[in-house]
Amino acid sequence: MNYKKINFAKYSSIKIGPIINVAILDQCSDYSKEFHIIGGCNNILVGPNPPKLMMLSKKFNYIKIENNLLKIGGATPSGQIVSFCKKNNISNFEFLAHLPGKLGGLVFMNAGVKEYEIFNNLVEITTCSHKKKKCEIDFTYRKTDIKEPILEASFKIEKGFNSQRVLDLKKMRSNQPSDPSAGSCFKNPPQHFAGKLIEELKIKGIPYGSMEFSTQHANFLINKGDGQFKDAISLINKVQKEVYSQFNIKMELEIEILDKNYL
Ligand SMILES: Cc1cc2nc3c(=O)[nH]c(=O)nc-3n(C[C@H](O)[C@H](O)[C@H](O)COP(=O)(O)OP(=O)(O)OC[C@H]3O[C@@H](n4cnc5c(N)ncnc54)[C@H](O)[C@@H]3O)c2cc1C
Repeated sequence: MNYKKINFAKYSSIKIGPIINVAILDQCSDYSKEFHIIGGCNNILVGPNPPKLMMLSKKFNYIKIENNLLKIGGATPSGQIVSFCKKNNISNFEFLAHLPGKLGGLVFMNAGVKEYEIFNNLVEITTCSHKKKKCEIDFTYRKTDIKEPILEASFKIEKGFNSQRVLDLKKMRSNQPSDPSAGSCFKNPPQHFAGKLIEELKIKGIPYGSMEFSTQHANFLINKGDGQFKDAISLINKVQKEVYSQFNIKMELEIEILDKNYL
């Protein structure tokens, strides 16, 4: 099996993490359950002691139209999907224009913006052991029950790329910080907004080392420079503890923390 040395302080969107060898999944025989699969690392905080990691090889970076379905490889970045859809006048993927990720990570997370979600047009996924139709997968807000690396997904094709939708969604993002982050840190608890609860704690903008909850959008944990894993964890713990003690609400993480000592 091949490995690739990845510097997570460069590769991950939050710009934190060690330099380690990541296994490359090129053939299904490379895969075993001991590996944790990663995509573009836009939703992951990697600690100094991560589990064994694996990523799909470049072979899984493709988009094609076959049998009137859009077939996308698990390693295909969101920007490439949008460009293909624009060129081929395909609708419903415009929301990916400002949503970073690779197809496998986007499907696993059921990523989306407002009413646009990757599962809306999904037909089936392919993993090493099976093909699974959408109706056989349990999915909800930013969550699925998929247990194996997603190698490919197929989608229904509807015509009509909507450039205005891309602009509208870009405008919606203007309140989000441009500093490195992993997107929204916590899920919105039922009937509440995570950002609003964090604002109530008066913690946003207070630095722990180079990490802080953004003054622009309180649910974004941002890295202002050489952010450290331990500072990110201290801030996350503080928010979870204080929101629980003040409002009796559990703040569930939307980002995933990969560290043996943290789990
Ligand atoms: C600035 C910013 C804004 C964001 N805004 C949004 C938003 O509006 N909406 C939204 O939904 N998300 C948003 N995110 C989060 C992120 O874009 C999504 O979660 C995206 O789906 C992550 O894709 P990824 O390839 O980077 O996956 P990763 O972060 O690498 O992994 C995420 C999860 O998917 C799993 N996974 C990755 N690849 C595979 C695979 N091939 N097979 C099976 N499982 C896999 C991983 O094990 C992990 O559990 C934002 C992130 C950033 C940095």
